[in-house]
Amino acid sequence: MTDDCIFCSIVSGTAPASVVHETDRVIAFMDIAPVTPGHMLVIPKAHSADLVDVDPADAAEMMTAAQRMDAALRSSTVPTEGVNLFYADGEAAGQEVFHAHLHVFPRFAGDGFGLTVRTSAPPPRAEPDRLAGELTASW
Ligand code: AMP
Ligand code: ZN
Repeated sequence: MTDDCIFCSIVSGTAPASVVHETDRVIAFMDIAPVTPGHMLVIPKAHSADLVDVDPADAAEMMTAAQRMDAALRSSTVPTEGVNLFYADGEAAGQEVFHAHLHVFPRFAGDGFGLTVRTSAPPPRAEPDRLAGELTASW
């Protein structure tokens, strides 16, 4: 619990939220500024800003909740041709609220959401091999 964290205030009930799901570990609620109608967030109840600091059991339960939220969107009247999960970990990645959260929002043709992606030619195998080695060295 962090006093100046809006998501901690939602967890403690001192800030309003339209809650869709709650367990001992996580709570999910409607996003206040939805990318598309039906946009939800699922957060661990325990405060941490960075994904690496989220208890793995909480992270697992966030994903389990997201699976149910996806299913709920698909069986609702909310326009849902597909669903995006989006996680911003750090300011450079677009994180604006520094309490871990996973976005779940419906997608449909012409919804206006888009990511700009710069594609490149596949590098020689030696490069992903080198990166895989470096990234797994610290596991
Ligand atoms: P991010 O850029 O990944 O940090 O996203 C933060 C999200 O939190 C945005 O989609 C906001 O609209 C949402 N948000 C901020 N404050 C609230 C709030 N009080 N209740 C619900 N959603 C919120
Ligand atoms: Zn918090």
